[in-house]
Amino acid sequence: MKYHRVGEIKKDEFLGKDIKIRGWVYRIRKQKDKAFLIIRDDRGGIIQCVLPSTIVPDITIESSLEIQGTLFKDERAKDGGYEIRGNDIKIHSIASNDFPIGEYQSTELLLDYRHLALRTRKMIGVGKIRATILEKVRNWFIENDWIEVNVPTLVKSAVEGGSTLFPVKYFKEEAFLSQSAQLYLEALIFSLGPVWTVSPSFRAEKSRTLRHLAEYLHLEAEAPWISLDDLFSIQEKLLVNLIGHVIKERKEELGFLNRDIPSLTEIKEPFDKLSYTEAIETLSSMDIQIQDDEGTRKIKWGDDLNIDSEKALTKDRTNPVFVYGYPLEVKPFYVKEDPETPGLALTTDLLLPNGFGEVSSGGMREDNITLLKSRIEKEGLKMNSYSWYLDLRKYGSVPHGGFGIGIERLVRWITNLEDIKECVLFPRTMARLDP
Ligand code: ATP
Ligand code: MG
Repeated sequence: MKYHRVGEIKKDEFLGKDIKIRGWVYRIRKQKDKAFLIIRDDRGGIIQCVLPSTIVPDITIESSLEIQGTLFKDERAKDGGYEIRGNDIKIHSIASNDFPIGEYQSTELLLDYRHLALRTRKMIGVGKIRATILEKVRNWFIENDWIEVNVPTLVKSAVEGGSTLFPVKYFKEEAFLSQSAQLYLEALIFSLGPVWTVSPSFRAEKSRTLRHLAEYLHLEAEAPWISLDDLFSIQEKLLVNLIGHVIKERKEELGFLNRDIPSLTEIKEPFDKLSYTEAIETLSSMDIQIQDDEGTRKIKWGDDLNIDSEKALTKDRTNPVFVYGYPLEVKPFYVKEDPETPGLALTTDLLLPNGFGEVSSGGMREDNITLLKSRIEKEGLKMNSYSWYLDLRKYGSVPHGGFGIGIERLVRWITNLEDIKECVLFPRTMARLDP
């Protein structure tokens, strides 16, 4: 007899049918003549099984087993009102009786035992939502004629600034873990056209925040012959499409995580666009403070937007907003200067609503070799580390641009989970390298 997954059999057409499932004991209650076992299968499906106590041996939470029986409807059964009345049980392995994950556990314990906490409904939901996001991202890019590529994560030079670089010993040289695939994607647009990748990016983030990981999954896209306006609309379309699919296909998981779905349904293109200068005016009138070497002071033109600024700019919004036109100084060396407004960069960050903040950074890249060289010099970077990158401007340079979205940031927003460590299966932070 074939095994079924719980997800497939919770349907009226299976009522009265003989079925066989296998999984793990999630909850257990034994009475004199009946044993009630709640079983979780390997896709996180949960169903109550009622068996005669005489055939159920002494078992513990998380023991693995299979049960054969008949499907019935019983309104008292949780999770959909279906239950299996079992007539046979086969134990695969009795779990040690000290399974560390119970109902009330500290966040730290759940992180220490993440390899087991992956069996909780929250983490099962996160795992599935991540998978759906990645599947729909790939579909969207395929449908819109972008080519998927893969590039190295062991690299020789910085993309996003030296302070978050992870050095690694690379034979006799020093190398780094990649902070972004962007420079490689830029090389690929000359022969593959619009390209995209999802790959790990590494940032040695020394501060503990709820939005930063040391290793995260980075969705990056780059295309030739495009403009800042194209970058707005590509990201709007991608995001709206993605949200639509996740709401439809992961309703149950979002519901379990208590995500308020109507506020996601409201997201519509076009998103608002706010210039950096307007953003700073708004923030000054709100008296937003920032930290710098001299201490705390009021935000002013020329400062990067910190999380407090991003929160203030988005707390009363229900739709995402693009902030464009940052000062060149707060952005990396490769950004293109606006030829019409020197000193400003042709870049745009996407901030998500209800106080969430940044999910993506993007913009046009400097395609003029002389200007690019002077930016590298100004930033104090080593010219010879970027010689292959400069070649891209030497041999048939074209206007081009792209963007990078943090997948865990997206998961965090879609699920409304507070801590980004809950949005990845095995988080990496300064304090956590294991499991
Ligand atoms: P932030 O200012 O929010 O720290 P950033 O501007 O330093 O981010 P970018 O270099 O612009 O980050 O990276 C592109 C995207 O990657 C960000 O918009 C964000 O979604 C994501 N991201 C960046 N750093 C991290 C991190 N440490 N952990 C998780 N996601 C990150
Ligand atoms: Mg950014």
